[in-house]
Order: sequence, then structure tokens, then C-alpha cells
Amino acid sequence: MLIVFLGAPGAGKGTQAKALAEKKNLTHLATGDMLRAEVAAGTELGLMARAFMDRGDLVPDDVMIGMIKGRLKTPVSGGILLDGFPRTVAQARALDEALDAAGTGVDRAIFFEVPTEELVRRLAGRATCSGCQRAYHDTFHPPRNADECDDCGAKLVRREDDRPEAVRNRLDVYRTQTTPVLDHYRAAGKLVEIDGGQAIDAVQEELIAAVE
Ligand SMILES: [Zn+2]
Repeated sequence: MLIVFLGAPGAGKGTQAKALAEKKNLTHLATGDMLRAEVAAGTELGLMARAFMDRGDLVPDDVMIGMIKGRLKTPVSGGILLDGFPRTVAQARALDEALDAAGTGVDRAIFFEVPTEELVRRLAGRATCSGCQRAYHDTFHPPRNADECDDCGAKLVRREDDRPEAVRNRLDVYRTQTTPVLDHYRAAGKLVEIDGGQAIDAVQEELIAAVE
């Protein structure tokens, strides 16, 4: 089974993916995490990707496709859940071709629909402790003292691409490039749309119904 998750940054794909992967014995491939690992390790791919990510732009198709194709060659038990890929029609077509060659295909493409204002609110407020890595949020889980960790007192840091300007840019880029991906899977009869604005448990319930 191969499931693709589609949805803007902040739509809750990561949270839902982790829970679903556990329940259904799927290997969760989060391309954002894979890219950040490459950046942290200072690989050639990571250095190339970093400049795009810092601006809130998408990493070019050939880089992403190469990374995913390489990863799909490693056999997995159970199915695969792709989170963060494909984000363009070129990536979706390259994925179809790679799977075709292996005699498989995408089973379901799940789209998490969340209104733009809600996405900006969720994304622009995130912060992480530079000491213990604890996660905070200006609205949902603020620290007691501004920009200071409740547990260890270290300074909170914000990801470069979580600044409000970068967030709006990311959402614009997302909409422009990913809307045709929805059409791609809709035409193939594989698209399932889920209301990602609901509570986490309600989203998970809809999701399980969609993949069964
Ligand atoms: Zn801390």
C-alpha cells in the first residue's frame, strides 16, 4: 500500500502521519525531515536544498525526485506513507513512473484542507527551546516568560521558515504549485479530501475510514 499525504505546511500532516503509520504498519517518509537531516549532515544535497528552504521556496524537482527514488529502492515491510512529496505535478508524474516500473502505484492521495488564516496562525507562532528542544507555540502553548524555556530557561528559537513573511510565501508557493497535484490525483480517482481544521482525533478517524 502506498499513501500520499497532501496539504499545506501546518495542515497537520506530520501528526496524522505518525499516528496512522503506527496503526497501519506503514513506513512514514517525511521529506521535510529527510531534507533537514541532509542539511544538518552538510551533504551536497543538503547545501543545495538549504538556500531554497531558508527562503520558504520549494526545493527543485530533480533534487526531490532523486532523493525519493533513492529511498524507495530500500524495501519496507507493510506499506509506505509519503508525507511532503509530491508537491508538484512533475514530482507526481516521476513518482507514478517509478512505481509503474516496480509494478505498483499510489493507492490513495489524502488532502488535508485547512483555511489559510488558520495555517498562518498555526505556523507563525512556533518556537523551540535551544537547550532541551521542547516545543512551544505563541497561541496554543506559550512559555511563562517570553522567549524563555519553562523547563531549562534556555532561549527559544524560531525556525527561519516560520517567520510570518516566510510563512505567507510558503503558503503562496504551496497553492500555486500543489493545486495541480490535487487535480492530477482527482483525475486518477485517487484523491480523498479531509477537513484538517477539526480536532486531531476526528481527523484521524476520517483518515482511517479513507484508507480502509
Ligand atoms: Zn528547555
